[in-house]
Parts: sequence; C-alpha cells; structure tokens
Amino acid sequence: MSSTYSSSLLSPVCLFLDLPPTRSHRKFSFIRCFSSSPQPMDDRQHPDIKKRVIVCGGGVIGVCTAYFLAKKGATVTLIEKSSVACAASGKAGGFLALDWCDGGPVESLARASFNLHRSLSEELDGPESYGYRSLITLSITMTESGSSSPSGSKSTIPSWIDGPARKPRTIGTTQTTAQVHPQLFTKTLLNTAVEKYGVELVIGKVDQVRVEEGRVGSVVLEDGRVIESESVVLALGPWTGKLDMLASIFRVYGLKVHSIVLQPKEPGIITPHALFLSYFPQGGKAMDSEVFPRPTGEVYICGMSAEEEVPDDPEQIVGNPASILMLKRVAKNVSSHLAEGESQVKAEQACFLPCTDDSVPVIGEVPGVKGCYVATGHSCWGILNGPATGAAVAELVVDGRATIVDLSCFSPARFVA
Ligand SMILES: Cc1cc2nc3c(=O)[nH]c(=O)nc-3n(C[C@H](O)[C@H](O)[C@H](O)COP(=O)(O)OP(=O)(O)OC[C@H]3O[C@@H](n4cnc5c(N)ncnc54)[C@H](O)[C@@H]3O)c2cc1C
Repeated sequence: MSSTYSSSLLSPVCLFLDLPPTRSHRKFSFIRCFSSSPQPMDDRQHPDIKKRVIVCGGGVIGVCTAYFLAKKGATVTLIEKSSVACAASGKAGGFLALDWCDGGPVESLARASFNLHRSLSEELDGPESYGYRSLITLSITMTESGSSSPSGSKSTIPSWIDGPARKPRTIGTTQTTAQVHPQLFTKTLLNTAVEKYGVELVIGKVDQVRVEEGRVGSVVLEDGRVIESESVVLALGPWTGKLDMLASIFRVYGLKVHSIVLQPKEPGIITPHALFLSYFPQGGKAMDSEVFPRPTGEVYICGMSAEEEVPDDPEQIVGNPASILMLKRVAKNVSSHLAEGESQVKAEQACFLPCTDDSVPVIGEVPGVKGCYVATGHSCWGILNGPATGAAVAELVVDGRATIVDLSCFSPARFVA
C-alpha cells in the first residue's frame, strides 16, 4: 500500500468500545428529535455579511465552525490556547460511520456529517491531504489464551490478522464507514480557512467572556488582551466546563482514553480494515479496543479508558504506562506484523473525550447570553460530527437558524430547569 498523504504533519492518533449499538460510551438515550436532509452550504447566500465572530478552541469543532462561518462571509478570529488539534482532535482514531448513531439524538447530525466529510474530501483533496478513505469494518473477538490462528470465516479476516481472532463479522462497508487522519484533517481545514477565507488564528488562553446587559461583548485572554465581538462560539472540548459562565448551567467532563501508533516494517500487507475488538486478556478483565490502519501503513490502536481530572495544559496529558503496555499486547495478539521488533512505535499517548451528563452534545446559544454559543460534548464522535456541527453553528450565528441539522435537542437550554 502506498503512502497517500504527506507524513510531515503526522502525529499520532487513537478508539472506542464494542459494537454498534452496544458500545457503551457510544450509547445514547434514545431521544429521536427529527430528521432533515443535509443540504450543502451555499456560501454565496450572504455575500454582504461581514459579521465578526470569535471562535474559542482550536480542536475539530472550533476549526469546523470557523471554516463554515468564514465561508459564509463572517470575519472570524479563532483563539487556541496551545496549538491547533493538540488534544483529542489530533489524537483520535478518525473513524467515521454513516449510521452507527441511528435511533438516537445524534442520528441526523452524524448522517449529515458523514456526507459533509465526503464532500469536504472532494473539495480539499482529502485522500492526499489528510488520508480520507473508505474502509471495511469488522467486529472480532480475541482471547489471549486462544488458539494462535484465526478461526471463523477465512474470507472475512484479512491475512495480516494472524492472531487468535474469533467470531468475525462485517459491521461496516465502504459505503458506510470511512476514516480521516484527524490532526491532518483539522489542520487542512484551518489552513484553507486562513488562506482562502481570511480566518485569523490567535494563540492565547481564553480567560473570560465579558457580558454586558445580557449580550456578549468581548473575550478576555489570560495575558490581558481583549478582543471585542458581538458573537462568540465556545468550543473548548473537555475544558468547556472550566468556564464559570457555562459550569453554572451544565457539566462537561473528560474521559481519558489511551492510544498507540505503530509503523510496521511491512506496511504493504496491512489492508484498509478497521477492527472493533472484544478483547479477553489472560487473567484480566475483558476490554474493548479499536484498530485503525491508515493509508501510510501506520496502525492506530486505542482503548483503556479512565476517569481523571483534565489537566489545565493539553500538552501535559500523558498516557498511563500500564494502559500503553496493554495496547501493545493487543497489537501483538492481533497481528505478528504489529509485534515488537516487527513494528516501530511512533506514538504512545492519551487524550480526553468531552462528555456531558446525558451523553448528548451541547450545541446552541447559551441561555441568558445573547450572541454567545457553545458547541461541545461530542464524546467519541467529534471527528465524525465536526463538519455538520460547524456548518449548523455557522448558520445559527449568521442566519439565526440552522437548516442543515435541527439543533433543538442539543440546546444548552435543556439543562435550565
Ligand atoms: C482515544 C480517542 C479516540 C477517538 N476516536 C474518534 C474517532 O475515531 N472518530 C470520532 O468521530 N471521534 C473520535 N474521538 C472523539 C473526538 O476526538 C472528540 O470528540 C473531538 O476531538 C472533540 O473535539 P473538540 O474540538 O470538542 O475538543 P478538543 O479536541 O479537546 O479541542 C479543544 C481545544 O480547546 C483548546 N482550549 C481549551 N481551553 C482553552 C482556553 N481557555 N482558551 C483557548 N483554547 C482552549 C484546547 O487546547 C484544544 O485545542 C476520539 C477521542 C479519543 C479520546
């Protein structure tokens, strides 16, 4: 398999748990809220609008929002504390699924976003720029003490999976599952937003959002800079809960998840198959793990979650050594090509899923603060749902109403009694 995108920007990436719809942290309370057919954004609809908007947070949600706002004609400043895609948006798996959120409140958002990913890929040369490609997705059971050769349908399991794999099942096709390299996707979108649509990137920590008479007025940075704007979008991922004005309305917390990235000596043997594993370690508790080969031949493996306080500085997030070791065990058992000596470790890392108490993202205007919007809580589906979230928030801010997706069930007002 050839390398299809530049590795110069490459930095690691990451998982989830079992199958749709039983995967525990992808379970949603089944509040179906509507259904709308996704429409491509028409950036010529508002040629004269020069609304000034500040977007806080340079993860996939903030960057997608900045991109679609600027494409609609807004003057956008993006404020990021550390570096673009330095947190979950740079370390995620980048797995995309059309229909795995069906039956829950995220269904329409996910379907619209999967399709937007496809059109963005055409617009931005996704296969070359950020490793966009379709995948076949398998569910596999793996027991460490089991027979060392795969059992089950030989035609389902590709030859590089030469460990004790059982019960293989195809759970996604090239029509319904795909992938991006999340860090490259986020950076490509931001670079385009800067170069083509004039987005300004400011590095600085948002300390406070100033509100005057129930309306947003400015954003104050930790170093004292004040940036005025009548519209502010807060997309701070698991750090959103650290802003007092939001913490008093709803809770956003982080769930730490680990990942490793391996470069096998023989990358050509690794086929585009994503794996969702039910893994039974010898003498340990059953766990879920995900394995995502990339077009470069790299293989990303994630799993091992833990509830932990989110550190203030995203650059200080490091993996727990025992969790990293476990992921290496998973790698070795999935394939001899991923064992130590046969592959090089390119990253050992961890990052935080942004979670809400009802497992539903929070997207909409903050109650009682005109012009202040929030977009967060995407849990394990933020890379998938970034584009439709960004497009919908752009419509909400500029037009006063989102049409690409009905945002009513994501409104932060649901937390206000
Ligand atoms: C291991 C793992 C694997 C995953 N795999 C997938 C996957 O395969 N598919 C999928 O769809 N999703 C996946 N996800 C989920 C996805 O990564 C997240 O939902 C998504 O990245 C969240 O994006 P975000 O922009 O909300 O937050 P983040 O990526 O956390 O970005 C928030 C940004 O805000 C900045 N910030 C914080 N505070 C401030 C401040 N005060 N001022 C300025 N900036 C600030 C941070 O520095 C950071 O850059 C995975 C997540 C994990 C942890």
